[in-house]
Amino acid sequence: MLPVVALVGRPNVGKSTLFNRLTRTRDALVADYPGLTRDRQYGQANVEGLPFIVIDTGGIEGNEQGIDAKMAEQSLLAIEEADAVLFMVDARTGSTSADIAISEHLRKQSKKVFLVANKIDGVDADSAVAEFYDIGLGEVHPIAAAHNRGVTQLINLALAPHI
Ligand code: GDP
Ligand code: MG
Repeated sequence: MLPVVALVGRPNVGKSTLFNRLTRTRDALVADYPGLTRDRQYGQANVEGLPFIVIDTGGIEGNEQGIDAKMAEQSLLAIEEADAVLFMVDARTGSTSADIAISEHLRKQSKKVFLVANKIDGVDADSAVAEFYDIGLGEVHPIAAAHNRGVTQLINLALAPHI
């Protein structure tokens, strides 16, 4: 069985961009508007010879209703299936109340969670990262999925207990 890595976080933080980067596909829709991926999507990924399964999700806000509730449910299922959860936040927008709400859910479950600050290109990485320490999920891992920065180190760390 390959290890499973789930990508969760609110819409538009770059989950599908990272999914495509890891799977070397364009299977996940990437767009400037949120919520394109409603179901969870599976891909086979390979980083430096380490194969694993990655799950992309539509996004979760932490307090959803209606169609958004279905999307959030997909995120919860992905978390259940995962060995490691990459909780993605957006270094450009900074920490939001939705980020806090999601983190409270993640704290309650037993999966290993990695807090990932994406889009560190073009922002001051140190201050962007510092802000997310307040979320209280420990170390903040800075990446720029669109530019393949920090991605290999992150995956090596996330998979380390599973290889
Ligand atoms: P999702 O809703 O979380 O799946 O987010 P997407 O992957 O669809 O990305 C949302 C937007 O963020 C798109 O316009 C992406 O091009 C952009 N984006 C994703 N990763 C990065 C990054 O590392 N840097 C920058 N500057 N933009 C990014
Ligand atoms: Mg997406």
